[in-house]
Amino acid sequence: MSVLALPPSPGDLAKARWEDIAPYFDDLAERPLDETTVESWLDAWSRLEELVTEAAAVAMIAYTIDTSDAEKEADHLRFSTEVLPRMEERSVELARRLVESGFNTPAMETTLARFRTSIEIFREANVAIFSELEELSARYQRITGSMMVEWEGQERPLPQLQPFLKSADRAVRERAFRAAASPYLDKHDDLAGLFDRMYGLRQQAARNAGFANFRDYIFPAKYRFYYTPADCERFHHAIEETAAPAVERMLAVRRKRLSLDVLRPWDLAVDPYRQAPLRPFTTTEEFVGRARGVFGKVDPALGTEFQTMIDERLLDLDSRKGKAPGGYCETLHHRGRPFIFMNAVGLVDDVMTLLHEAGHAFHAFASHSQPLIWQRHPGSEAAELASMSMELLAGPHLAKPVGYFATDEHRSAWLEHLEDILLSLVHIASVDAFQTWIYTSGDGGDAAARDAAWLRIRQRFERGVDWSGLERERVARWYRQLHIFQYPFYYIEYGIAQIGALQVWRNSRRDHAGAVAQYRRALALGAVRGLPEIYRTAGAELTFDVKVIGELVKLVEEEIERVRAELPG
Ligand SMILES: [Zn+2]
Repeated sequence: MSVLALPPSPGDLAKARWEDIAPYFDDLAERPLDETTVESWLDAWSRLEELVTEAAAVAMIAYTIDTSDAEKEADHLRFSTEVLPRMEERSVELARRLVESGFNTPAMETTLARFRTSIEIFREANVAIFSELEELSARYQRITGSMMVEWEGQERPLPQLQPFLKSADRAVRERAFRAAASPYLDKHDDLAGLFDRMYGLRQQAARNAGFANFRDYIFPAKYRFYYTPADCERFHHAIEETAAPAVERMLAVRRKRLSLDVLRPWDLAVDPYRQAPLRPFTTTEEFVGRARGVFGKVDPALGTEFQTMIDERLLDLDSRKGKAPGGYCETLHHRGRPFIFMNAVGLVDDVMTLLHEAGHAFHAFASHSQPLIWQRHPGSEAAELASMSMELLAGPHLAKPVGYFATDEHRSAWLEHLEDILLSLVHIASVDAFQTWIYTSGDGGDAAARDAAWLRIRQRFERGVDWSGLERERVARWYRQLHIFQYPFYYIEYGIAQIGALQVWRNSRRDHAGAVAQYRRALALGAVRGLPEIYRTAGAELTFDVKVIGELVKLVEEEIERVRAELPG
């Protein structure tokens, strides 16, 4: 039997076009498949996907580090718009062969369930629809990515207003808040029109696949096998009952501390205990070196993995001209290594972002022990469980001499993080409730009805802030939530993960080493077990129950009170 030999490394595919890769897929599509060949066939297919996805990841990393280089941009675009979508199509075909062969092992059960689902909901007619949605998504990115505001006589991109939103001067904060909202007010009609088209295409794709609406389609499409739309509504309810009033209490304390009659939306980011934002580090060497120490204190093995990332240059952390915005952790499947990208400027947020991305990186290290590429990534709920748990496991180790903060600073940073957890739970519930409304109410294609629904839902979850006279700015908030445009229904995963992470944190307060060991065992499972078992292994329960969620919210609230009492009065 003649078998096409794979290229030895992803580097050999750096300049590949789809025509260069297609023959390997042709070979896999044609090779005889039976009991005696299926395992080597699977292995070859997995190694091919490792090579191509790593070549694509390397191209993406190179581009995001240097967006001004036209060749790097072309390489990245070739992979993201040409190679990967075509590979995806061919993968469904190979998955069908595998499923039809009857092959099954316990370690492949979750993968086969995903393959079967992809095959069931695949429709030829939807290929064109999803590619049109990709184009609309790119248009959203172009419109929002090019938004500039005039600030003190200078044109600036929106993220640069962030420090001014934290200003101790209330007038500066208000100006920054209004400036940040203004491009979205200007572009409201364009973005609404864009969303109208996305809505129509998504509902059509769902109907093509035999579903009543896009919400019902997305559950199988995102392999949500272990919870239902009704569970998501239980989550909304639980957050409304527990986190929303906790946020209201928390904001009342903030209001008093700031000596204000009412809290306005521009009063939420300022630190009421400090005149100037904390500066946890000044150089990238310091940023990285202290992180190495912090992870070593969480677990020596994690410290060693982070050291490997330093040694092998798998970190690009400081903000520089020409870098794309944001942060991510990407897995290089052939090498079995993660890569972390971010834009640090020396703030507390940067430390928290690095803890988060490092959680993803440790997940990549741990799950690489699974032999096949599909056995490693368990879906966003478990992925974010890994990253959000790391924020909480590393949080107590951020004090000097190893970490970034003097004792008082550490309290401030920790308080900010705990408050963010409660605020984000409320935000997550409202975003998911809103997306549910969009695709199930029947009125989601009506721009004015959508905006009105957002205000209604926001009112339900977001309390303690006076938005009067700012309805348009409040509406603008959902247009800024890129997931609603680009990754529909991707949001509740963060909430599910946070509820798991809070349980890991609760365990760690009783037994730090034990909780970290459970955490690492859960990460090593990769995707070979279902979500409830991954949670159990991590020492947590996958739950939507108001009682359990209420207990976790109470735990955070008590910790907030404890930390606050220790801060200078
Ligand atoms: Zn993440």
